[in-house]
Amino acid sequence: MAAVMHLDGFPMFSEHLVERLVAHRRQMASLEAECISLVAEMIRRGAEEDLGYRSLTSLLIDRLGVSAGLARGMIRTAVALTEMPHSRAALEAGDLDLPRIRLLVTARGANSHLFADHEQTLVEAVGGLSMADAHCAVEYWRQQASLEAAEDDDDAQRDQRRLHVSVMAGMVHIDGLLDPVSGQVVMTALDSLTDPGNLDPSNDRTPAQRRADALVDLCRDHLNHGELPTQGTERPHVMVHLSIDALEGRAGRPCELDDAGVITPRAARQLACDAKITRIITTGESQVLDVGRTTRVVSGGMRRALTARDGGCVIAGCGAPRRWCDAHHVKHWADGGPTSLGNLVLLCGRHHTLVHDGKVRIPARE
Ligand SMILES: [Zn+2]
Ligand SMILES: [Zn+2]
Repeated sequence: MAAVMHLDGFPMFSEHLVERLVAHRRQMASLEAECISLVAEMIRRGAEEDLGYRSLTSLLIDRLGVSAGLARGMIRTAVALTEMPHSRAALEAGDLDLPRIRLLVTARGANSHLFADHEQTLVEAVGGLSMADAHCAVEYWRQQASLEAAEDDDDAQRDQRRLHVSVMAGMVHIDGLLDPVSGQVVMTALDSLTDPGNLDPSNDRTPAQRRADALVDLCRDHLNHGELPTQGTERPHVMVHLSIDALEGRAGRPCELDDAGVITPRAARQLACDAKITRIITTGESQVLDVGRTTRVVSGGMRRALTARDGGCVIAGCGAPRRWCDAHHVKHWADGGPTSLGNLVLLCGRHHTLVHDGKVRIPARE
């Protein structure tokens, strides 16, 4: 009885049962393939609109009586198979069943470009494996493909990197985009210079202003102390064209920076205060009076003495290290102030600006 059963009135051996089962499964597979083709066609023509449904999913749920998950799965498979010619052919020929096709559809989601290259091999491999082994093989491929896709994404992100620096309406506009790793380097460096716990009483800066100041501090430090390729024998440096009239408070030719353009006389006086910058001072007729490092420059010996005396920025609570500081002439040299230790103090870049703007006073020395 276990070996034989009657079907259509004929006795059947077990082998016949298996043959018939295999034949039915093949038919089911080809019917499944046809179902998927029908769904693909419904997607193409927007059948849900023709028939007054909100979505194709709700149409399938209503008309087939299937679950939402199954309806969505059919649609996902139909969409994917339009781009999977080898899988579709194997399904239509009954060589792959729907569960194996779904494995391949899921795998393709990890990296569709790589899948297109490997599809034929994967279809052949999966067709000859048990469902459990097919699952393992496809999962292994999917993990490798995900890694490659992530690396491709990294490259694509890096390719988008950019930094624009342009002069707009008298200001310098900076705008950029960085990949996460490079961005983290910049954010860590800026964060290290934007301590909100600073005790400095003049410290009412917004976070954006702190970041801007930090960027300038970094760049200033690099120009003053970093390893730089030399242009000829000189370090590349901020070049400013100063008019002696503007420095001495008279109307005259404007002061200009090489790249960033015209600056106010007040900013020019600050730049000319210390001379780590290269100055080109001109008279009204653009006659060069003074290029670069002259007697007004704080000499190496004098700077060492100043650094030893002040330690860093002299504004209480600032704590900016000496390497970020300018030597400030308490009485500007353009007003006849001497370049001597008694007329100099160390100020960080930000406090130097605030002092020249008259917003912060230099503490009296004992
Ligand atoms: Zn100054
Ligand atoms: Zn300071």
